[in-house]
Amino acid sequence: MADSGTVIVGAGQAGYQAAAQLRLKGYTAPITLIGDEPHLPYQQPPLSKAYLQGELAGDRLPFRPEAFYPDKDIELRLGEAVTAIDTAARTITTAAGQLAYQHLIIATGGAPRRIPVPERLEDRCFTLKTRDDADALGAALAKAETIAIVGAGFIGLEVAATAAKAGKAVTVYEMQDRILARVASPAVSAALDARHREAGVDLRLNEGVDFDSLDADIVVLGIGGVPVQGLAETAGIGCDGGILIDAHMRTSAPDVFAAGDCARGPTPFWEGSIRLESVQNAIDQANLIAEQIAGDGTDIAPYQAVPWFWSDQYEVKYQLAGLIPPGTTHVQKGEGLDGMAIYHFADDRLVACETLGNGAEHLSARRLLEHGSAPVSPADLEAAGSLKAVFKARR
Ligand SMILES: Cc1cc2nc3c(=O)[nH]c(=O)nc-3n(C[C@H](O)[C@H](O)[C@H](O)COP(=O)(O)OP(=O)(O)OC[C@H]3O[C@@H](n4cnc5c(N)ncnc54)[C@H](O)[C@@H]3O)c2cc1C
Repeated sequence: MADSGTVIVGAGQAGYQAAAQLRLKGYTAPITLIGDEPHLPYQQPPLSKAYLQGELAGDRLPFRPEAFYPDKDIELRLGEAVTAIDTAARTITTAAGQLAYQHLIIATGGAPRRIPVPERLEDRCFTLKTRDDADALGAALAKAETIAIVGAGFIGLEVAATAAKAGKAVTVYEMQDRILARVASPAVSAALDARHREAGVDLRLNEGVDFDSLDADIVVLGIGGVPVQGLAETAGIGCDGGILIDAHMRTSAPDVFAAGDCARGPTPFWEGSIRLESVQNAIDQANLIAEQIAGDGTDIAPYQAVPWFWSDQYEVKYQLAGLIPPGTTHVQKGEGLDGMAIYHFADDRLVACETLGNGAEHLSARRLLEHGSAPVSPADLEAAGSLKAVFKARR
């Protein structure tokens, strides 16, 4: 019987990566990449940064030009939603009918969390996830004078920086007592807080937004994301705060994998399982899936890629290598926006490194955290002075 090949649901970062990587690994069976958005698969990070600022043209967003897909014999179906998965019959359904699969990859991503807003604000309230969201927000921003942002997480703050740079009056409402409270160290929050205030952003900490009295031309909700798991859930695939995957990205259904923002699984960098929203995670998980599908069945090492993430606000680049579990101790070197590094240790082993404007430490941390590398202790760091020096000495 002919191999019905691999069907990929979701043509975003992970979906595109899996398709491209399958061909790179020599996979010859059919590949069908199905996305419900009308656009060629594109990168999302610029949507809150250079693209929203008008500094990056729309034709620079796609990962690859249109011709890439027929060239690689990848059938790209855009503007088409997958509405059902039948894991017993090994088919998926779209408005165009049913399609059989040998392997299925679910890469449906995440969706912005929403909260109810009063009717009078509805048509000026925005979230930011897709290219269409960015186009709508960008058009509204151009005409607006006052912007209210709900939530001081990465996306809210990146939009705040973009709007402030464009000369808008920006107010950010954050319920916690510091910005980035859930994701970054207090010293990072303090340094970025000062930079936002310097740019004129009115940061309201310990303050939830009161929609009834809110008077702004635009309201942006930046209150986190939820996994898009409904399709998998309805198909009976195990989900719990994300589509549950094992260390090889396998779901509870045979030959069905999941990757990226929609998936929750184990990593050596976290106890239990975690759902990560980052480019690195989407790419590395997709690569591991492609390796298995294209492989000859020999054992493949479980997922152990070093997690990493970045955020650009003004001229500042925040970078995180590793993950920061509860209960770590930390060492800080440097101050402020230009070169600060915070090293996190669990049981005297380096587990994560946060930097502001210090790409060299970030890269060294990623290398030193790689599987098989000898652990770095606080004493190693102290003796060498930096991770860059530790790395150099061990090479
Ligand atoms: C504004 C913004 C800024 C970001 N900045 C950074 C950053 O600086 N650094 C970083 O590391 N990460 C950043 N991220 C996160 C990063 O872009 C995501 O983690 C990554 O895109 C996840 O890839 P994914 O393939 O899992 O999901 P996505 O790229 O979201 O792709 C999922 C796709 O599946 C489609 N889909 C969903 N359901 C169906 C269905 N039933 N049928 C067909 N298609 C479907 C969706 O419409 C979407 O196109 C940012 C994200 C956003 C939105």
